[in-house]
Amino acid sequence: MNLEIKQILKETFGYEEFRFEQENIISSVVNGNDVLAVMPTGAGKSICYQIPALYLDGIAIVISPLISLMNDQVTGLLEYGVKATFLNSELSFEQRLERENLIRSGEIKIVYVSPEGLLTHRMLEFFGELDVSLIAIDEAHCVSQWGHEFRKDYMRLGELRREFPGVVFLALTATADSRTRADIIKQLNFKDHDVYLSSFDRPNIHYQITERVSEIRQLNDFIKENHEGETGIVYCLSRKKVERVALELQKLGFNAYMYHAGRTKLQKQKAQDAFNKQEDVIIVATIAFGMGIDRPDVRFVAHLDLPKSVENYYQETGRAGRDGEKASAWMIYGLQDIIKLSQMIETSDASDQYKQQAKAKLNSMLGICETSNCRRTEILNYFGESKEKCDFCDTCEEDIETFDATIDAQKVLSTIYRTGQIFGAGYIIDVLRGSKNNKVLERGHDRLSVYSIGKDKPKEYWSFIIRQLLTSNYISIRDWQYRNLKIEKKSSEILSKEITYNLRKIQLKSERKKSSKKSVNINHERDDLFESLRSLRREIASESSLPPYMIFSDKSLHDMCLILPRNKSEFLMVHGVGQSKNEKYGNDFLKVIGNYKN
Ligand code: ADP
Ligand code: ZN
Repeated sequence: MNLEIKQILKETFGYEEFRFEQENIISSVVNGNDVLAVMPTGAGKSICYQIPALYLDGIAIVISPLISLMNDQVTGLLEYGVKATFLNSELSFEQRLERENLIRSGEIKIVYVSPEGLLTHRMLEFFGELDVSLIAIDEAHCVSQWGHEFRKDYMRLGELRREFPGVVFLALTATADSRTRADIIKQLNFKDHDVYLSSFDRPNIHYQITERVSEIRQLNDFIKENHEGETGIVYCLSRKKVERVALELQKLGFNAYMYHAGRTKLQKQKAQDAFNKQEDVIIVATIAFGMGIDRPDVRFVAHLDLPKSVENYYQETGRAGRDGEKASAWMIYGLQDIIKLSQMIETSDASDQYKQQAKAKLNSMLGICETSNCRRTEILNYFGESKEKCDFCDTCEEDIETFDATIDAQKVLSTIYRTGQIFGAGYIIDVLRGSKNNKVLERGHDRLSVYSIGKDKPKEYWSFIIRQLLTSNYISIRDWQYRNLKIEKKSSEILSKEITYNLRKIQLKSERKKSSKKSVNINHERDDLFESLRSLRREIASESSLPPYMIFSDKSLHDMCLILPRNKSEFLMVHGVGQSKNEKYGNDFLKVIGNYKN
C-alpha cells in the first residue's frame, strides 16, 4: 500500500518525498483509523486527505470553513487532474443540481462543503446514499471551545458519526494544545484513532529582527537586497501607517497595494486579486489581511510594528514560504512600540486579569526581540518545543556579543531619579547628553551631577538602554498621557551593583555599514532561462485566468533550470510535475528549455 500512496504522490502531484508525518497520517487513514493531525501552516495538510481520497473507493467529503478558499482549492486540484468540486450556498440552484448529478455519477473524488451546509437534512440525505470514503475536517480546532477560534457550526459535527457510522474521520489543524486535542477527539466521537503532531518549526523561514532607525529606508534595503521582484506582505499596526507606507513603496517603484478594514469592498477585492494573481506584488496591511491567505509562494513577511504576542507573530510570519522554499520573516521595532502597545493594554476596558495576561504576552514577544540566543530556539520554546540553535536566523548568523551595561543603566536610573521621575524618555536623554535645550536650562537641570554624563554615546544608544530597562521592569511608565518614567524598586539591584546588567551589543547607525549579504536568496542557476520560464508561466496564467503559482511553483521552475529536461519523460522528474501537468504544459516548457540549450 505504501508503494501505491507514494506513487500517487509522484504521479499526481509530482513530489518525490512525503513531508513531516504525511505518510503516517495517510497510512492510518487508509487503514481505517480516525486521525487527528496537527501540522504547522504550509506543512502540507491537504495532501493528507487528497491522497486517501484518490486511493480509496467512493467520494471524500472535506469540511472547510472558508467558502472563499474552496474555489481555489478545487481549481488547484483540477490542475493536478484530480476530479474535485464544491457545494456551498453561493451556487445557483442549477449549478447545484448539475454538481449533484456529477457527484452521483461517481466521477468526483473530493467534494468541499461548509459545516453548516453539510449538516442540513437535504445534504445528509444526499450523501447518505453515496459511497463516502472519508470525512476530512479542516481547521478542526474550531470544534473545541478551548481552541482560539471556536465556531458554532463546528459544534454539531459530532453528529456526523451517527449519520456515517463506518466512515473514517480525519481532523486537521495547525494549532491545538493538549486540552484542545483531547476535546476535538471527544467532540467528534473518534473511535480507534491515532494522533500525529508535527514540529512547529518552519525551517525554511529566516528570522531577522532589528531596531527601527529609518523605517522606509530599512524596508527598501531589505526588499531590494533579498526579495526584488518577489511577493510579500508588510504588516503595520494602524490604518494610517498602512496608507503612508504603501504610498512610499509605490513612489520607490514597488508594485504595492494597501489593505485594511477601512477600505471599501471593491478596494479590498482589488488588492486581494492582485495578491492572488501577480508575481511581484507587495501588500501593505493591518492584521485584517490574513484570513484565507493560501498563496504558497509569499517570499517575505515584514513587520514594521511589534505584534502583540508571539502567537500573532508566528501566525503572521507563517504566511511566508508555505511552499517550503526559503523565505524571510523580517521585523523592525523600537521603544515607541513598547510604549504604544503597553498603553493600549493599560487604557483598555478589559479586566485586570486580562491586562496582566496581555502584558505577559507582550513581554514574551519582547523577549524574542531582545534575545541573544537563536530566535528559532526561543520561539519554539515558547510553544513548548525544544530546539538546538538553527544557523538560519540573524542571531545565529551574527554571533551576538553581550556587554556589561551596569554603569550606563545606573546613569539612566540616576537621571530619572534626579529630575523627579516626571519626564519621558526624550527629556531624560537630553539631560544625559547635556542638551542645551531651553527646557533643560530653565529647569536648572544643567546644574545636576548627571547632566551630560552620557554625552559620549548617541541618542539611539540611550533609547536602547531605556527600552531594556522598561522591558525588564526596572523602570515603568507613570502616566500614559505624558509617558513619564519612574523607577521601580527592583532597580536597587543595579544601583547597588548587586547584579551585572548584561545586554546584547547593538550596532549603532553610525557604525552600520550597508550589508551586502543576501541572507535569503535561492541560488539562481541560469537566471535568464528562469526568467523565460517565468514569462511563459505568466502568459499561460493570464490566458487561463489562473494564478501563476497554480501552473507551477517557483521551485518547479528552478528545478527545470537545474535538470534541463529534454523530453516529456524527463520533464516528469521535475518537482511538482505530475501526469496531468506534464500533458498540459510539458511541450510548451520543453520548447523554451530547448531554445535555451541551443
Ligand atoms: P497547509 O498545511 O498549510 O494546509 P498545504 O496543504 O496548502 O499546506 O500545502 C502547502 C504547499 O506544500 C502546497 O503547495 C503543497 O502542494 C506543497 N506540498 C505538500 N506536500 C508536499 C510534499 N510532500 N512535497 C513537496 N511539496 C508538498
Ligand atoms: Zn537561529
